[in-house]
Amino acid sequence: MRKKNIKGLTEAELREVLTSLGVEKYRARQIMEWIYARGAGDFSAMTNLAKPLREKLSEHLYIAQLREVTRQISHKDGTVKFLFALEDGQTVETVLLRHDYGHSVCVSTQVGCAMGCSFCASGLGGLVRNLTAGEIIDQVLAVQNYLKQEDQRVSSVVIMGSGEPLTNYDNVLRFMALLHWPYGLNIGYRNMTVSTAGVVPGIDRLSMENLPITLSISLHAPHDQLRSALMPVNHTYPIAVLLAACDRYTARTNRRITYEYSLIAGVNDRAEHARQLANLLAGRLCHVNLILVNAVVERGYEPPAAERVGKFQDILKRRGIETTVRKEMGGDIDAACGQLRRRILSAEANH
Ligand code: SF4
Repeated sequence: MRKKNIKGLTEAELREVLTSLGVEKYRARQIMEWIYARGAGDFSAMTNLAKPLREKLSEHLYIAQLREVTRQISHKDGTVKFLFALEDGQTVETVLLRHDYGHSVCVSTQVGCAMGCSFCASGLGGLVRNLTAGEIIDQVLAVQNYLKQEDQRVSSVVIMGSGEPLTNYDNVLRFMALLHWPYGLNIGYRNMTVSTAGVVPGIDRLSMENLPITLSISLHAPHDQLRSALMPVNHTYPIAVLLAACDRYTARTNRRITYEYSLIAGVNDRAEHARQLANLLAGRLCHVNLILVNAVVERGYEPPAAERVGKFQDILKRRGIETTVRKEMGGDIDAACGQLRRRILSAEANH
C-alpha cells in the first residue's frame, strides 16, 4: 500500500485520515503542531505520541519534505536564495529577505511559469506544473528551520516567486490557511502578499474571500502596447479590464492595492511613462513600488541609472501617488525570480 503524504492537509482532513486508521481525531492537532510549529519531518520526533502510535502512523503516512539542492547567501544584505528539490525531482526557488521589520520569505507557487513575462527568467522554460499547498508551505518551513540557528523566525510571506499564484488558486488559498493556522506558523493574513501578473478572474475570486492580505499587481507598463510586449497576459486582460477588476477588489475589501513597476532602462522608464502611469492610477487607493529590474542576460534588460529612477518617482509623487523604490536585495546573487533554477538546469544540461 502506498503511504499518504500528510503535509498540506487541513486539520479537518487529517482528522478524517486518522479516523480511517482508527486513531483518535484529536491527535490531528498534535501532529500538525509538530509539523508546522516545530518543523518535524518524521513521526519518530513526536515524543508526546506513544511509540506504537508513531509506528502505526509511519506505516501508513509520511511527511514530505523538500531537499535543499543549493543556497546562495548575499554578502551585501544577508538575502538567502534556496533551490529546493521536490519529490519528483523538479526544483523551485525560495528567497529569505531580511528587513528592518522582520524576516520575509518569497515563495514559488509553480515549477516554471506559463505567463512568459519578458523580464523574468522563470517564464523562459514555460510552466512545468503547479505546486501543492504542502510544497509551498514546506518552503516557509525550510526557511524557518534555517532561521532557527539565529533564534529568529519568519514574520511575513510574499507569494511573488516563480509562478502565477492565481492560476494555482486552490493550492495557494490552502497554503495561506495553513500559514495562518494558529497552532502552527500562525502568520497573520495581513503579513501575506499575493502578487499577480493580472489574472482577472482570480482577482475577482480573491476579492470575495474576505482576507486582509495585500494584493500586488505586476503592472510594469502604462499602456497596452508596451504592457503586451512585456507581459503576454495583457492580450487576455488589457489594462482597462485589469484596473476595473482592481477597482472591484478595492470596493469589496477596502484594501489598498500595490502596483509593481519594474523599471527597465530604455523600455518603460521615461518621464512620459511616469506621467501616463500617474494618469492611470490617479484617484485609486494604491501604492506604487518601483523596482530596478534584475538584469536577465537572455533578454538584454538592464536597470536604469539612479537619477532616472528618482525622476520617475518624483513625477508620481507630485501627482499624489504614494511611491517607494524597492530596495535592491541580493544584488550579488541570482536573486531574480527563476535565475538560480535556470543556471542549475543549464549547468546540468551541459554536464
Ligand atoms: S514575472 Fe511572475 S508571472 Fe511573469 S513569468 Fe515571471 S513568475 Fe511568471
